[in-house]
Amino acid sequence: MRRPLVAANWKMNLNLPQARKLVADVRDGLVARDERALRIEVAICPPAVYLFPMAKALEGSGIALGAQNVFYELEGAFTGELAPGMLAETGVRYVLIGHSERRHVLSPGEDDWTLNRKVHAALRVGLVPVLCVGETLDQRQADQTDDVLAFQVAAGLSGTRISGGGQLVIAYEPVWAIGTGQNATPEQAQNAHARIRALLKQRLGAAGEEVRILYGGSLKPDNARVILAQPDVDGGLVGGASLKAESFLGILAAAMEA
Ligand code: PEP
Repeated sequence: MRRPLVAANWKMNLNLPQARKLVADVRDGLVARDERALRIEVAICPPAVYLFPMAKALEGSGIALGAQNVFYELEGAFTGELAPGMLAETGVRYVLIGHSERRHVLSPGEDDWTLNRKVHAALRVGLVPVLCVGETLDQRQADQTDDVLAFQVAAGLSGTRISGGGQLVIAYEPVWAIGTGQNATPEQAQNAHARIRALLKQRLGAAGEEVRILYGGSLKPDNARVILAQPDVDGGLVGGASLKAESFLGILAAAMEA
């Protein structure tokens, strides 16, 4: 039984007072849902400079802290980078690796081999990598989705040893759905997740059945319920709709009922 995880990716948004207020409102909203809230796990991935204040703001809430990025070395002369151990020390549990904006929007974008090094580095200190994978619109239209997913999963996990499903999360985020308002249909999401599930089982055996696969891409309260109800969809990675308590809580409520 996989406990759904819904993670908020704030990207480079919100100022500190807004971030504190959002966390307080999400906490209150979860308390109001009492034991139903225990059906799911919630994580918040703020910008790196807010990790420490958000760790404090989340204390005692049961909401996990996530980072949006991590460096692939454990320490050294790497100006501006964040070591995995530093994140862990700050209370971070999850770390996004290979978000589509880091693969495709930044220039130069991160390649699969860099991302693989980041996955290794995160695992070494006990952080849980949330490895983000997904095809572009051109790749989908050229019928390459399965191949892209197979390559990104294989490259991202190359050389890793994962013995328990709790050590890893995969986020399926079709690039064409991120921030566009155009979500994948429940069927498209389920097909991609089933493909990823098969790859994980091939690679990790029984642990592949336990790894949570999140859907990300224009998830909103009104489409969350049907997408999150798909058998291989184990929660969501939420960008835009995580910036307002009302819409994020709406998605969390859908995950509790899915
Ligand atoms: C994301 O950034 O991971 C994401 C899914 O964004 P949005 O929900 O805004 O599409």
